Amino acid sequence: MAALAVGSCRRAQCANPIPPALAAERLCLGHFLDEAFLRADHTLDRCREGCAINASELEWLLADALAIVNNLDDEMAGPSLDLRDRMLELLLILANLHEYVAHHSVRLEYLA
Ligand SMILES: [Zn+2]
Repeated sequence: MAALAVGSCRRAQCANPIPPALAAERLCLGHFLDEAFLRADHTLDRCREGCAINASELEWLLADALAIVNNLDDEMAGPSLDLRDRMLELLLILANLHEYVAHHSVRLEYLA
């Protein structure tokens, strides 16, 4: 596991290794999950309130974050139970978001 790490997390005072699936995000798994939860919750709230959704944010959540979590599952030799639970929870939120977007008309905003 340590041999696979690609540097350490960009969050201040976090020395956790970055798994290869998170190289582009430069976050350790715990901090990636924190960030993904916040962004997914926020986006889902905006959907439910009928607000316009940032297209690239939605794309990040439904493509990148989903792929990352799926890769992590293959790649990590037994993440702790706690992290595994949070990964599953995140997948559930992303699935809800996907479902919501598929069945409601969501306004997208394209920001530079
Ligand atoms: Zn970290």
